Order: sequence, then structure tokens, then C-alpha cells
Amino acid sequence: MIDLKRNERIQIKNGSKAEVIQKIGEGGQGAVYKVHYAREDYAMKLYFPRSIKKKNEFYSNLENNIVNGSPNESFLWPLYITEMRNGTFGYLMRLRPAGYEDFSKILTAKVQMNSDMAIINAALHLVNAFKDLHSKGYSYQDLNDGNFFINPENGDVLICDNDNVAPYGQNVGVDGKSRYIAPEVVTGKSRPNVHTDRFSLAVVLFMLFFRGHPFEGAKTASHCCLTEQLEKEYYGVHPLFCYDPKDESNRPVRGIHNNVIRLWNMYPRYIQDAFIKVFTAGIKDVNERLTEREWTNILLRYRNSTIKCSCGCYNTFEDEKQEKLTCADCGVEINRPLVLTINKNKIFLYPETRLYTYQIEDSQDLFQEAGMVIINKANKSLWGLKNLSKRGWIVEYSSGEQKSVPYGGVLFLLKGTKIFFGNEYSGEIN
Ligand SMILES: [Zn+2]
Repeated sequence: MIDLKRNERIQIKNGSKAEVIQKIGEGGQGAVYKVHYAREDYAMKLYFPRSIKKKNEFYSNLENNIVNGSPNESFLWPLYITEMRNGTFGYLMRLRPAGYEDFSKILTAKVQMNSDMAIINAALHLVNAFKDLHSKGYSYQDLNDGNFFINPENGDVLICDNDNVAPYGQNVGVDGKSRYIAPEVVTGKSRPNVHTDRFSLAVVLFMLFFRGHPFEGAKTASHCCLTEQLEKEYYGVHPLFCYDPKDESNRPVRGIHNNVIRLWNMYPRYIQDAFIKVFTAGIKDVNERLTEREWTNILLRYRNSTIKCSCGCYNTFEDEKQEKLTCADCGVEINRPLVLTINKNKIFLYPETRLYTYQIEDSQDLFQEAGMVIINKANKSLWGLKNLSKRGWIVEYSSGEQKSVPYGGVLFLLKGTKIFFGNEYSGEIN
């Protein structure tokens, strides 16, 4: 055990000393302290002396991760490492800002997500973070409900425990948490890698959307508790997706898996198909697991076609052919609104629909807003698109009339309208 006292000073490698302020948490591997270092406050994770298997390898991997820097701002990445002392060491990272909640609290409904849009954005942030992590040649190895936080208001994500992150092909002695790890790791056939990360990512996305586990249904519910051997069977040797189209024997059970039953049919077919692919063919064939880019495309399509009913509930159009839908909450019928097509993006234009920067210029930023659909105050049946981007737009209505729309300006949503976004991007409303 280690127990640092207030004001105790810890030697940072190649630097001065960090001063302990207070303990803020403890886990299986070590304890986390709030510390003061170089005029700033940080979180310091300090390992229990016997918690790390390959200590020297782990230490130098951590040092390398610090030197290489964070792949994406969603990671609470290690910033400074301490000297090895009394058989232990630790590292400093940013403190978790206020407003970010443990994913496990969201799963157990102790914390509610603000909206379906916040859920979609949380999924996008997670996928985006893993895309950047994998493109830098790392694998995370241990994604589970205990190592990331979500801001329930807007879906922002922060991922911690980045000490397990290692270059592709290397493993620093971490096997991951049961229920989240890929079947081939459970059965000992593989060590964690990019493909096993992708499996864990799909499990976490499923849990975020459906508030249940993809392999838990009638089979797992038939036991009062899962022994280690049963866990190996259901998550490793013979995992069976609860919505496997060819095998119904592990379907969710009413009274136990109510969330999954209620939520499964509220998602569009292409989202269901994505999970079916990963959790059926993808169990054995790692190439059937969706890449982060594939998830991103699916999630962006989903966000583009999800609209907010006046009651506040979000609903999704399957595609442009769907002429109307019934609000899942208030039951009102909503006709398909006009759709703005920009390259591959089809954006359903309903009040409060956002246009994003990546849709109208070369940008990787999936969250920066560039426009919003608003209702005319004097005539509520008249809707407009407000320009919130840095560039001025040119609009050509179907009558041939042209109008320039500067920042803050609004164009009418009329069928046949073309929008030129001040660069090579253009779109048409239909
Ligand atoms: Zn409604």
C-alpha cells in the first residue's frame, strides 16, 4: 500500500518536484492524487508496488507515450512521469474537469444523458478518439466502462488509463476487463491489439445505445450468477449476440433486459446491421469488425437524419424515401422535412438541425457548428438556415434569384435551392 500525505513531494523525472494536495481516487492498480506541479494542478496516478507485472517495460512504454504526445484531445494522456521510488512510480495527467461523469454511472442510470443527440455525439467522440489512437500505431487494450467519462450535457468524452496504451503488436501485461474484451483474448488465443480494441469499442457503443450487453440474454439469465467458467463460455468460447438473426436462443428477456428490448427497434436498420455484423461474423473474423471510419460514416448518417420533435424527443428518418414518422414520445406525426445534400451528406432540415463545418469545407472537425435551422418568429411555417460559418454563402433559389448570406444571415428553406459555401463546396435542398 502507499499513502501519500498532504504536502509530500514527489520527484518528477527530468524536472522539479510535484506536491501532493489530496487523494482523489483509488483503483485496482493504484491511487490517484491531486498534485501541484509547475504552477498547475494535475492528477497523479501512483501504482501499487506489486500491481505492475513487467515494471521496466511498462515504465519505458509510458515514457515513450509521454514523448510522443496525445493522439486526440479526448485522452487524459500522461504528461510527466515520476522517478521510480520504493518500487513504484506514477505519472501526471490533466485533472478531469467538472461535468464529466463515469460511463458506469450512465449505464446504471445514476446519471441521465441530456438527449439522444448527446448520446450520438458521445459515440462519435469515442470512435474519433480511437481512429486517431490507431492511426498513430497504438492500441488501447483495455476499453471498459471504468476508463472513460462522458459529459451528459453535450456528449464530450474523456478517456483515462492511457498507461496501458502501447504500440501495435506490443502488450504491457494488460488483458482487459471481462465483458468488454474480445472473445479471442478471453480464450487466450490472442493478445490485445487493434482488432480486439475494435471489438471492445463495439461493445461500449452497444451499451451506450441500448443500455445492456450484446451477449446477455436468455442464456446468461438462466444462471443466478456467472462463475468464471460461465463468463468464459458466454463472452469467449460461445458468445451469442442477443439479436443474432439466425439464432434466437439468447434473446433479451422481459423483466431483465427491458432497456435493450425497448431501445433496439428505435434505431435505424443500418445501425442494427452494423452491430449484427460485428457480433456475429465479427466474433471469429476480425475483418468483419467495423473500422472507426466505418462507424464514423454510420454515426454521421444517423446524426444527419435525426430531428428534434417540438416535444424535445429526437426521432430518426431511415432514409429520404420515408415520408413520415411518429414521434416516439408524444405520438405526433412528422412529415419528412426538406433534405440538404452536400456530397455524401444528406441533412434533414428540421428546426434545431445543425450544419457542421466538416460538411461544408475540408475539415476533420465533426463537432464545430456551421449553421442551424431556425423558425421564423412571425410565420412559424417558414423555416430558415442560419449561417454560423466563417464564410459568406451564396444562395440561388429555384426562381433564379440570388442572394448572399453572410455570417448570421438566414436563407429560406425552399425546395430547389442551391447553396454555395464560399469554397468548392455546394449543396442543394430537395
Ligand atoms: Zn414528440
